[in-house]
Amino acid sequence: MRLVLVGPPGAGKGTQAEFISEHFGIPKISTGDIFRGNVSGGTDLGKLAKKYMDAGDLVPDEVTNAMVRDRLAQEDARDGFLLDGFPRNVAQAKVLDGILAEFGSGLSVVLELDVDQDEVVRRLSGRRSCKKCGHVWHLEYDPPSSPGVCDRCGGQLYHRDDDEPATVRHRLEVYLAQTSPLVKYYSSRDQLVAIDALGTVEDVTERAIEALKPYA
Ligand code: AMP
Repeated sequence: MRLVLVGPPGAGKGTQAEFISEHFGIPKISTGDIFRGNVSGGTDLGKLAKKYMDAGDLVPDEVTNAMVRDRLAQEDARDGFLLDGFPRNVAQAKVLDGILAEFGSGLSVVLELDVDQDEVVRRLSGRRSCKKCGHVWHLEYDPPSSPGVCDRCGGQLYHRDDDEPATVRHRLEVYLAQTSPLVKYYSSRDQLVAIDALGTVEDVTERAIEALKPYA
């Protein structure tokens, strides 16, 4: 299955991506995670991306597209993948179509996680991510058993700089202006399936797996 997840920041894409990729046995490719890995590793790509990420803006397409192209060319992505955070605009979607056509394949389906803006702000302000394994917790909805420590790996939890309220508002504007047109782009091509992303993590995972079964 070649799958793309679409939805506003805070819709739960990262969280659901973990469970969906595990369930269907496909690698999860998160552009946000790759950028954050480069930022903490101090690479040139990380230095460049950080400026945009801290402001809640998109990293320029040429940089992002080249990074995704390299990742999709790797062996483990040949028979399927889950893309989380890419494409983020219609230009990137067209580049993705081109890359896959070159590899002789195409997208199986695009899953939209549907959630309203108030809930998004609530989710992002309580979100805490693990520095070590990247797992995402929530202070209210899915709290770790000891504060600040990841139950999965013992790593330290932190609040992403771009989850601060002012940056969250800007990221939502960027989503509405640049990313949400993807919904129309993919639905007009009959590639979109939408699910309600409200409810517990487990409920949403169940809905996602059910919706994706026909494409596995
Ligand atoms: P995310 O973890 O998906 O919320 O991404 C965090 C940040 O990484 C975004 O706010 C952007 O600055 C950058 N980023 C992630 N994916 C992309 C993309 N496809 N295009 C441009 N920038 C991206």
